[in-house]
Amino acid sequence: MTEPSVRWTALQQRIDQACRAAGRDPDEVTLLAVSKTRDAAAIRALHQAGARHFGENYLQEALEKQPALTDLPLVWHFIGPIQSNKTREIASHFHWVHSLDRVKIARRLNDQRPASLPPLNVCLQVNIDDETSKSGVSLAELPTLVEAVTALPRLQWRGLMAIPRADAPDHNRAAFRTLAMTLSQWRHTIPGLDTLSMGMSDDFEVAIAEGATLIRIGTALFGPRN
Ligand SMILES: *Cc1c(COP(=O)(O)O)cnc(C)c1O
Repeated sequence: MTEPSVRWTALQQRIDQACRAAGRDPDEVTLLAVSKTRDAAAIRALHQAGARHFGENYLQEALEKQPALTDLPLVWHFIGPIQSNKTREIASHFHWVHSLDRVKIARRLNDQRPASLPPLNVCLQVNIDDETSKSGVSLAELPTLVEAVTALPRLQWRGLMAIPRADAPDHNRAAFRTLAMTLSQWRHTIPGLDTLSMGMSDDFEVAIAEGATLIRIGTALFGPRN
């Protein structure tokens, strides 16, 4: 197995290259290390290599790892589906949520965000392909969700997130472009919208070309998941 620092450096080089090709500054792209199924030691090793942002999909798993890592200045992102009975813990133990797609969940996260912490950064997850099997709000329903979220003082709306259909590589570019255009429309009227969370191990270069500011990378950083 390759050293985490080697994989980290190799990935940074690919990001730099993709940014150069797109005429973008690599500082505009945040690398989120998706650490689902990886243990605290693997997260610590990747932090040592340079990673600061970590993404988790399963609350219980994250809560088991986080106590072993409190000495590190990590930024935790929740990127998985959110059940209502999990909102209190998510609001307390994460800096960001990327997978917000319902008004009811938004209200709960807002009400349960501890007063001692700054507002919770949120991205709204868009079901960009209108797949019935996938989570995310449809483009048609997005304005209603935006209206609710921007009225909640304990949430800071930062941008949009999407996971395009994995089985259609050519299609992802168009999906990323639609997401970027959607965000740019809101940016005319809403300050502080700076995040396009799109692109994973297999398609992050295309996502960067289409304007991603945060890419979510698991296997390319940690190796294959079991
Ligand atoms: C697992 C996961 C990723 C990372 O996927 P890789 O293909 O391993 O890079 C990114 N985003 C979300 C929402 C995920 O669940």
